[in-house]
Amino acid sequence: MAVARKMSVFLEKSSWIRRMFEEGARLKKIHGEDKVFDFSLGNPNLPPPDIVGEKLVELLQKKDPGLHAYMPNAGYLSTRTAMSAYFCKEFCVSMAQDQIVVTCGAAGGLNIIFKALLDPGDEVVCPAPYFVEYGFYADNHAGVLKPVRAKEPDFDLDLELMAQEIGPKTKIVLINSPNNPTGQIYPEETLARLGEILREKSRQYGRVIYLVSDEPYRKIVYDDCVVPCVFTHYQNSLITSSYSKDLSLPGERIGFVALSPSADDGKSIIDALTLANRILGFVNAPSIMQRLVEELQGVCVDISVYRAKRDRLVEALLGFGYELTVPRGAFYLFPKSPISDDVKFIGLLQEENILCVPGSGFAGPGHIRIAYCVSDATIEGALPGFERAIKRCMNGSVR
Ligand code: PLP
Repeated sequence: MAVARKMSVFLEKSSWIRRMFEEGARLKKIHGEDKVFDFSLGNPNLPPPDIVGEKLVELLQKKDPGLHAYMPNAGYLSTRTAMSAYFCKEFCVSMAQDQIVVTCGAAGGLNIIFKALLDPGDEVVCPAPYFVEYGFYADNHAGVLKPVRAKEPDFDLDLELMAQEIGPKTKIVLINSPNNPTGQIYPEETLARLGEILREKSRQYGRVIYLVSDEPYRKIVYDDCVVPCVFTHYQNSLITSSYSKDLSLPGERIGFVALSPSADDGKSIIDALTLANRILGFVNAPSIMQRLVEELQGVCVDISVYRAKRDRLVEALLGFGYELTVPRGAFYLFPKSPISDDVKFIGLLQEENILCVPGSGFAGPGHIRIAYCVSDATIEGALPGFERAIKRCMNGSVR
């Protein structure tokens, strides 16, 4: 076999997204692009704000001779300085540029954090449902992902259960807020209590447990919600985020890791993150993108567009009889599947040419994930199908 055994298993495990992709292509061939309603991918449908293109043109016209050269592995000092100035406001803490490493997206950020912190067999405790890539990323660095069920129906952290699951092998607690797939935001009180638990557990086991907050949707929030900053609640914490969602630049691979200014051993952690950027083969985040985001701190797509899509879908789905907690951030809905077998319900939606991902794909069985970063036409076109699919379950013709 050419492919490594572990990769063969992973290929099989990662097949939900592939399967949805292939199913979408098949349905589009039969019915036409506009008759297939694809809610399976978290690919922002809004174009980047106009200023992104304008700044890019400016950057290229400047003809800076160093623009395409290698640079320090942590990124340009000017980019890190601009980021730290913005984070002082955004995170309400005093941050310096040397607490930031510029990365290839939040995915690159998570991988350098895991590389820097995990010894073989160390555990990464995270609430479930969770972004499915976490398991692969932990494995990349010989770590073990340990999911802990979140509370339903609001998907807040189940702190008692998390406290039980944090043990002598736990090195990282990983949270994601606003959350993919649930869209929920962990409130200030939850993070404060999580901070207390992590302090207690670090003392109990005689080693620091790090809190990692994955926040690529930090700016995609509704109803005047604010995402609380973990730095305020726990000193040994790191935030990773990106410009994939808030500037609609997921293909450009640009993000960062920020380390809490009060973390123990901060300098060696930043050194390890920087080396990880290099030796994992990222080397550095893309140069032009660093120059770009340096000038666009705080800029975001118009989130009122996503809010309107959320509101339209929530209102319609509740009207049809779906059960869901209204998400306060990101661009995902995570309603309950009307039948316990979410994979079977995804099949019923496919019969309506609607593509969603089963909650099982995120360790959240009994739900479906609807990525509503799609056109209004896709939403409107899909509504009758969403209604017919739940009716079939309600009238007992499908169990
Ligand atoms: N974390 C979560 C929860 C995500 O949903 C995603 C992408 O969808 C990522 C990380 C990776 O994002 P990026 O494009 O910044 O690497």
